[in-house]
Amino acid sequence: MTDTPDCIFCKIASHAISVDAIYEDDQVIAFNDREPQAPTHLLVIPKQHFANVGAADAPLLGFLLHRAAALGDKLLPNGYRIVINTGADGGQTVHHLHLHVLGGRAMTWPPG
Ligand code: 5GP
Ligand code: ZN
Repeated sequence: MTDTPDCIFCKIASHAISVDAIYEDDQVIAFNDREPQAPTHLLVIPKQHFANVGAADAPLLGFLLHRAAALGDKLLPNGYRIVINTGADGGQTVHHLHLHVLGGRAMTWPPG
């Protein structure tokens, strides 16, 4: 995979920065968020750089969601929330597509 310069998640995906991977295959890596917002807070990212959810193709999005759900089903049998923050109003701070998988507590609605 080609790194996008200065993208922290590209560096994680290429193992230039090490994380404890919860799951990894040739397309995806999942790891713990460094500022967890719930007892379990994983990030599931594609190894290929996409700036946001709108930039990725449908098969990849399906694969990422399928992987995120599989991790949620395995680790969080009481339920979980999958979130994709997008753009400034969406609260996106890292501009490499990522799915948050949150669980281990009851989530509230509406979200903040
Ligand atoms: P966003 O706000 O873009 O939806 O989410 C970015 C997430 O990435 C945040 O929850 C933040 O804590 C997490 N994050 C940012 N940089 C790093 C990092 O270097 N390592 C890890 N494990 N998480 C990170
Ligand atoms: Zn990237």
